[in-house]
Amino acid sequence: MASPVASSIVWLRDDLRLDDNPALSHAVGLGLPLTVVYILDEESPGIRPLGGAARWWLHHSLTSLAAALAEAGSTLTLRRGPGSRVIRDLVAETGAQHVLWNRRYGGPERSLDAEIKAWAAENGIEAASFQANLIFEPWTITTGSGGPYKVFTPYWRACTASGEPRSPLDASARLPSPAVAGSMKQAGSDALAEWSLLPVSPDWSGGLAETWLPGEAGAHSRLEDFLDGPAQDYGTGRDLPGMEGTSRLSPHLRFGEISPFRVWHELRRNFPREATPDVGIFRSELGWREFCWQLLYANPQLATRNYRPDFDRFEWQQPTAAELEAWQQGRTGYPLVDAGMRQLWQTGWMHNRVRMAAASFLVKNLLADWRLGEAWFWDTLVDADAASNPANWQWVAGSGADASPYFRIFNPVTQSKKFDADGRYLREFIPEIAHMDRRAIHEPWNQPDVQAYPAPVVGLHESRERALATYQKLRKDQ
Ligand code: FAD
Repeated sequence: MASPVASSIVWLRDDLRLDDNPALSHAVGLGLPLTVVYILDEESPGIRPLGGAARWWLHHSLTSLAAALAEAGSTLTLRRGPGSRVIRDLVAETGAQHVLWNRRYGGPERSLDAEIKAWAAENGIEAASFQANLIFEPWTITTGSGGPYKVFTPYWRACTASGEPRSPLDASARLPSPAVAGSMKQAGSDALAEWSLLPVSPDWSGGLAETWLPGEAGAHSRLEDFLDGPAQDYGTGRDLPGMEGTSRLSPHLRFGEISPFRVWHELRRNFPREATPDVGIFRSELGWREFCWQLLYANPQLATRNYRPDFDRFEWQQPTAAELEAWQQGRTGYPLVDAGMRQLWQTGWMHNRVRMAAASFLVKNLLADWRLGEAWFWDTLVDADAASNPANWQWVAGSGADASPYFRIFNPVTQSKKFDADGRYLREFIPEIAHMDRRAIHEPWNQPDVQAYPAPVVGLHESRERALATYQKLRKDQ
């Protein structure tokens, strides 16, 4: 039997792209036969299993990645199991001397990577990691006393003062092939269909497929469309759910189909002098993504524990099953909340302003624990992100970092009159009230012809007072 030749493994995780992929570029530089693997890891301790909408996305993203790799002369190996075992198996099968990946920042993911690095060091294998998915890695931006930032504005000031982010690396047109004939066994792969990532009976993914094109090509065309249009007026457009005023890059960034470095530099190229404040506002939204990750890095339990421990004594109420279902299904009787929750169910995405209003309704008007809402979003968002989802839920609840003060309670009627004045967004998602005019549609309960649409599940005034009283109690008990 021929002895194994040197080879390398690139382990792709939240970086399903060829463009600006430092681990892949490093492998190309080594010039050795290359195995590119994606591992569906639902077994390593603490790693949060993907929700339903994200599983749908992953299936399609991997399909697109496999095609792109094939075009570049490589293949995608799919394996399922605990990351450390799978990597060790692959090294044994291929004789690889280099294992390369781009870094992740969640607690369990970092422990797993550390375990593999330690094993590799003991066995004389190079395990190297690279920066790809965050422009500002959490440990590089710290306060004067060396700790993590708790407030966004000074955090972002420190980031932007730290110098221009590195330029993105172009994708290599050719990747080393996975095996050298006769000398290295090519690693076997699972069939993607065996992973059952797509929903069946019922298949609820029709609206997702109509809305999205998962994969690197889809990500780049979203960015181009954004730069050609909405970016010019982002400061105003981003608040209007009835129009395409934002980039809709979130699921692509979540799965790493586009690099934040690429987005940053494309903005720079398209708006060289930053003639408008809109570009700065958009860039600071990318900053919120980075901020959420540095919060998760410093607080690995962000999805389960209050960031502010005083909230451990907050008296959340268990909503009734009917109330919770009304919220989940978009039947609360408040059109902006309902349009948002229906948009989420149909497309796997919700406009940011509406996310804030829908989340506020659950945690303040229904007084439900933010973890209930976080879990629902985790399951239904295509961009469900281990950092941004809990950080934003805690922001809305008041228990988070730099949070909106608890006493600021979004009024869904005022919000919809202000940000969807003509009711275009409400009409798109709530056919029962689509016939109403721009004045009536925000408060349909005042209309005679509203039978098909539910009455409000709670009164806004009483529920607001109840929330404020509960918060006062927390403050008094301090
Ligand atoms: P754009 O306005 O085009 O912004 C560009 C990018 O900046 C986004 O793609 C996203 O990566 C980032 N970004 C923008 N706003 C935020 C923010 N507030 N926090 C963190 N990053 C931000 N975003 C997620 O990516 N995943 C989540 O799971 C998630 N859950 C959320 C839950 C709640 C309750 C709320 C209020 C917000 C949540 N967000 C989440 C943040 C925000 O709503 C989405 O990032 C945004 O709506 C995505 O649309 P876009 O790509 O068009 O954003």
